[in-house]
Amino acid sequence: MDEHELKNGEVEYMSDLFKSALKQGSAGQRLIRQEAFALAQEITPDRLHEIGRAAFANRSKRFDDRATYVFNIQINPANICWAGCSFCDYAASSKDTHAYVLSEDDILSRVEAVQPTEAHIVGGLNRVWPYERNLELVRELRRRYRRLHIKAFTAVEIAYFAKTSKKSEELVLQELKDAGVNALPGGGAEIFSDRLYRQHWKNKIGPDQWVRIHQLAHDQGLFTNATMLFGFGDTWQERIRHMLILRQAQDKSGGFSCFIPLPFQPGKDKFISHGPTPLETLAVMGIARLVVDNIDHIKSYWPMTGVETAAAGLSWGADDMDGTIVEEKIAHMAGAVTPKGLARDSMRQTIQIAGFKPIERDGKFNPVSVD
Ligand code: SF4
Repeated sequence: MDEHELKNGEVEYMSDLFKSALKQGSAGQRLIRQEAFALAQEITPDRLHEIGRAAFANRSKRFDDRATYVFNIQINPANICWAGCSFCDYAASSKDTHAYVLSEDDILSRVEAVQPTEAHIVGGLNRVWPYERNLELVRELRRRYRRLHIKAFTAVEIAYFAKTSKKSEELVLQELKDAGVNALPGGGAEIFSDRLYRQHWKNKIGPDQWVRIHQLAHDQGLFTNATMLFGFGDTWQERIRHMLILRQAQDKSGGFSCFIPLPFQPGKDKFISHGPTPLETLAVMGIARLVVDNIDHIKSYWPMTGVETAAAGLSWGADDMDGTIVEEKIAHMAGAVTPKGLARDSMRQTIQIAGFKPIERDGKFNPVSVD
């Protein structure tokens, strides 16, 4: 193969890799690194659809025509945060007029009103909701709702809790698990690029620590999600590298249950005028399905993609639409114009119109009802 590469030159060589990437990926076989990079290097408008077809073949083998969603609530206890990530429109200083802090009563009464299957809890880095208070909230939720799936605190928050409580990250994870946390969400990964890390979120943990904390969580039997923020000055090579780092981490610890590509929302600050187009978002989902072969689920996260693109994502490799999300603040404060919650019926209808069979699931991706 090496001789063939040299004799035919780079263009022909990459074309062969591109073709084999599609063939391997659609058959559900692992792509070698060069094949994964070829998908990004040779991406053209025509080839986007070839990627979509291969990703669809792959997801169909795994999930047939099923597409899942969860009945969940998102809880963001406070938006006060000192980290100052350049892309964040959610965070506020305590003096800002849009700063808010929810109380335990607020949160518990929302959960009681909704009775969700899953509670997804993430917030900012602040002292109003310190580690002990968050731990107590989880304990109280678990005391009240034995079967609730509690997916709480990003790796960024875990690192902050460890630092402020002067405990190890392992101990924090253990205490949260004992209190009732079932899983960690995938936020805070942004994109695994030291270049962009230094530019945009240098006050919080970087790629290596993010991966390490997730693997510590896996060691303790906690499942986690993984995200990738894209479309804010990142390159296709950086996206593929991110996916390959995740694939390698998953080979080692095996605890990632879902990969969630997050298209950037330009928001108020506008250091970039627009996020990725819907087609680019779909291409990222399709390539993720082909490259990250060892993470079962690819999520089409409608609050950030928009409902229509999320539904189309089911034909581009995604198999899950996340949740009904009764209330979500982070994407919406960044300017997302999607609805703040999708009722069960409209979630099911959206999936059906996209040509798939809606399956409500629990937090561990087990079906809870089937139509
Ligand atoms: S992205 Fe998270 S850590 Fe960064 S400023 Fe926003 S809330 Fe804080």
